Amino acid sequence: MAAVDIAGLGKRFGETIALSPSDLQIADGEFVVLVGPSGCGKSTLLRMIAGLESASEGRILIGGRDVTDVPPAERGVAMVFQSYALYPHLTVAGNIAFPLKVAGLLKREIAERVAEAAAMLDLTDLLDRRPRALSGGQRQRVSIARAIVRRPQVLLLDEPLSNLDTSLRARMRHEFARLHQQLGATMIYVTHDQLEAMTLANRIVVMSAGRIEQVGAPIDVYRRPASIAVAAAIGSPGMNLLPAMLAAVTPTGTTLRLSDGALVTTAAQASVDDVGTAVTLGVRPEHLVPDEDGPFAGAVELFERLGPLSFAHLGARGDVDTIVAQLPGDRSVTLGEVLHFSIAPHDAHVFAADGRAYPLTPPPSSPVR
Ligand code: ATP
Repeated sequence: MAAVDIAGLGKRFGETIALSPSDLQIADGEFVVLVGPSGCGKSTLLRMIAGLESASEGRILIGGRDVTDVPPAERGVAMVFQSYALYPHLTVAGNIAFPLKVAGLLKREIAERVAEAAAMLDLTDLLDRRPRALSGGQRQRVSIARAIVRRPQVLLLDEPLSNLDTSLRARMRHEFARLHQQLGATMIYVTHDQLEAMTLANRIVVMSAGRIEQVGAPIDVYRRPASIAVAAAIGSPGMNLLPAMLAAVTPTGTTLRLSDGALVTTAAQASVDDVGTAVTLGVRPEHLVPDEDGPFAGAVELFERLGPLSFAHLGARGDVDTIVAQLPGDRSVTLGEVLHFSIAPHDAHVFAADGRAYPLTPPPSSPVR
């Protein structure tokens, strides 16, 4: 197992900057998930670590060794692809054994390692089957077994579950968590899926437009996104982002004026020079509290009942987009009903015109939020 150290790593495809020079340190044994919108550079970063894409600038160190110019097979990494990429004419055992045969291992050692990887991925009873006789989930397990059989120092996974249906994804998610514990391997995982990112990662790396926007524990990034790009990328349904004006700076934060004139008290720390500037107010659906006198109001256009909770979509007004509010599962609502909400000042996220989040004033009572 090994740490991965990325220093000033960048990638250009002609005019396109797929990755601006970026730094990232991944600890030995860590499970890191790269997330972000389509085209933000996640796969490019992963493929550069694998050696499938050359670096335009910067260095990649694996286990302290500079591998920037080392061929993929000599980097001590293995990659699992979304498409499985199994050999159709080989059995499951043949597929798993393939990289070991190429490496010239002895037959007995190959048999032992294949049996071990198959057991780890619950494939022991399927070793004689060919890929076409397997389900999607089983095929993906074979491709994972084939990756780990080489005992790579680093396991790279590019959207490995995106071809699977929801229930299988959930099962495979648990398997990845278990596999990570069993192998203790450094794992770098690319996904679009919020749940995968939040549940699997020790740390998530949020990317946007070829840049690393924020790196942190999933819950920290969820609670305190450093920028609008991160706020928009993390959370489902997403954070409500409302245009506002910074109306006043107070001893405990700021007051914002929404475009319909309503005032919102926040704990954001701004300078008096910022008064009068355009900002964006970010509010998570679960932080909207029913309150007849609250500044957020709207008629329910759509109501989604999920069982344990519900989401009310309040109609757009002027340049304020639809607001989504989370309600208890047993709350009954009629379409067209006007609902009012407020938020606690520390639950407000305020983003400056350049997208960066304002820091918060320390909460008055509880230090942990
Ligand atoms: P997705 O989630 O859709 O897979 P991504 O975040 O993995 O997206 P990348 O595949 O890394 O994004 O692509 C980053 C940028 O680099 C995109 O603008 C893409 O069009 C461009 N790009 C990627 N590969 C190439 C290539 N071989 N030639 C030219 N441009 C490329």
